[in-house]
Amino acid sequence: MTLSECIADAKKKGVAIGHFNISDSEGFKAVVEAAKELGVPVIIGVSEGEREFIGLAEIVSLVKVARGNGLPVFINADHTYSVERAKAAIDAGVDSVIIDGAAKSFEENVAMTKKVVDYAEGRALNTNSQGPALVEGELGFIGTSSKVLEEIPAGVAKTNPDEAAEFVKQTGIDLFAPSVGNIHGIVKAGEPDLDIELIKKLEQISEVPLVLHGGSGISDEDFRLAIAAGIRIIHINTELRLAYKAGIEEGIKSGEIAPYKFMQEAVKSMKEVVIERLKLFNNL
Ligand SMILES: [Zn+2]
Repeated sequence: MTLSECIADAKKKGVAIGHFNISDSEGFKAVVEAAKELGVPVIIGVSEGEREFIGLAEIVSLVKVARGNGLPVFINADHTYSVERAKAAIDAGVDSVIIDGAAKSFEENVAMTKKVVDYAEGRALNTNSQGPALVEGELGFIGTSSKVLEEIPAGVAKTNPDEAAEFVKQTGIDLFAPSVGNIHGIVKAGEPDLDIELIKKLEQISEVPLVLHGGSGISDEDFRLAIAAGIRIIHINTELRLAYKAGIEEGIKSGEIAPYKFMQEAVKSMKEVVIERLKLFNNL
């Protein structure tokens, strides 16, 4: 199945696909093993920083190998802040790319997003590929860092439904990431509740699948309600990073010097997070 088909299938089943950010092969291993164990599709996400570390071509080929082995694993070029970088990701063969103009004006955001949509379609025509890479656009600022924050970052603003409808229409995006009370990172002072009514409204007017960013720190109950309201992809990063670091610290304590031994603890703790999240998102 293609990513579009998996999303359509998730809609039919009333579930969401988990999207997990990784920086290296340990993260990849943890996410893929978890998805394989549960028999569900999964999306690997790489931000600009993450893809620079692991290598864009390298992670695309790892995902293709996994898919060749029959696993529904997809690769998304997460938050991409320039048209050039988004084009490079499409050229590298990602399944989807996020062009992030959420901090820009509405007009600038539309213009840069539309350029990437056109490029993805043009490239698919020229290369006769299966289908264009899906393009995700964002409207409404939710912060930028996947870390533990003291408080809600400045400038966070919920998506306006009328603007959202205009944005989807003018850009032709395949996936839409709104701001509905979700925040990138984990907020120490407490996360806002998700605006479930806003999700429902956006689901009705946007006509493309909705993606929930900043999943770390959201309650299980809010996740269930958000999925029922129409969220089809959920991003998790910060809690995976925390689990990874704690796992490495644990592994180092063992005194082992073989990486494949002391890193096992790190893979294990990431995998546990991914399994819990996938069970929740897939209603298992
Ligand atoms: Zn995000």
